[in-house]
Amino acid sequence: MADNKLYEILGVSKNASDSDIKRSYHKLAKEFHPDKNPAAGDKFKEISYAYEVLSDPKKRQVYDKYGLKGLQEGGHGGGFPPDDLFGHFFGDIFGMGGGGGSRGRGRARGEDTIHPLKVSLEDMYIGKTAKLQLSKNVICGVCKGVGGKPGAVVSCKDCHGQGVKVTYQQIGPGMTRQFQTRCPTCQGLGETINDKDKCQKCKGKKVLNETKILEVHVEKGMRENQKIFFRGEGDQQPDMQPGDVIIILQQKTHDVFQRTGDDLLMKHDITLTEALCGFEFVVKHLDGRELLVRHTAGEVIKPGDLKGIQGEGMPQHKNPFEKGNLYIKFDVVFPENNFASEEQLKKIESILPPRPAFVMPTGDDVEEVNLMEYTASERNRGREEAYASDDEEHMHAGPGVQCAHQ
Ligand SMILES: [Zn+2]
Ligand SMILES: [Zn+2]
Repeated sequence: MADNKLYEILGVSKNASDSDIKRSYHKLAKEFHPDKNPAAGDKFKEISYAYEVLSDPKKRQVYDKYGLKGLQEGGHGGGFPPDDLFGHFFGDIFGMGGGGGSRGRGRARGEDTIHPLKVSLEDMYIGKTAKLQLSKNVICGVCKGVGGKPGAVVSCKDCHGQGVKVTYQQIGPGMTRQFQTRCPTCQGLGETINDKDKCQKCKGKKVLNETKILEVHVEKGMRENQKIFFRGEGDQQPDMQPGDVIIILQQKTHDVFQRTGDDLLMKHDITLTEALCGFEFVVKHLDGRELLVRHTAGEVIKPGDLKGIQGEGMPQHKNPFEKGNLYIKFDVVFPENNFASEEQLKKIESILPPRPAFVMPTGDDVEEVNLMEYTASERNRGREEAYASDDEEHMHAGPGVQCAHQ
């Protein structure tokens, strides 16, 4: 069986040289490394596996001749147990990813069911019990998961009980590609039941769909992406241990607070007057308390200043009496243009610290200029050009480095 999936994974042609393969692998491994790209873990495994095979002349030969199957049968599976490899990320390649029954064979445990649950920051602060309606498959009580009368279930004649059908496609002279598709007669189950023998209740499906309410306890201090497990509450299937239902918390964005670990951060605008002369304001907390924040005159608050309030952050999960801190980032709103007369400005100046001394330069090189209004588009244009030339430099650097290498 010939396929070139591993070459495709590395983005090289079938007759790529060892150094082509090496170069491409290094580039991709960098891009998809889990440290850099945690979501691409499977992709990284694929890349590593493809390189492991194609960089080894023996394995590459076997693969070219017999495809992935050859590697598996020959025991050249590399760093992964073949089962894991095939079930996990090559399932799709073989077209068996669509819930084909044969995939589950020999597996003791069903798939986990994952549900996101949106919760507010208030819920995570105070704690809450959410009711989640869930539809799941349960073993049919009438036929006990057999699907029909005893003896009614027979091996599928079309696929000889395999659940899959193998077809070949000519893709070039002397090259055929093998496809495994789900058997249409038995829907990949490998077995059929005559209509007249089918269980009346489940129509031979062995399972029934049921609606179930789960009580999800969102505990104080739980975090975004935290998982809550309901062991064994996943879909039931005959001869299989049901998987778990896993609830993943997703925090709704909050109007006032942002969360970092157990700390909360909020922004607050004060006027220039408040920045100089002191202020007070009220923060409505997540549990409804109103925190009075008072800052007396004396210490000037500057734009971007960060102040903290101890113990007013989020409660620690499992230890809710310990809390993080609340941080407030201040911005200072300056008065509008012409807010004061010339006379008044003189008065203000007399109070504020004196201006730095200015010495008027002399000579022909002195030129007086005007300040114009800033426009974002003018500045962005200049920036884009700067980036463009930067990119070009990188592109030149690439091949140059390789030349030096050879
Ligand atoms: Zn039934
Ligand atoms: Zn079949």
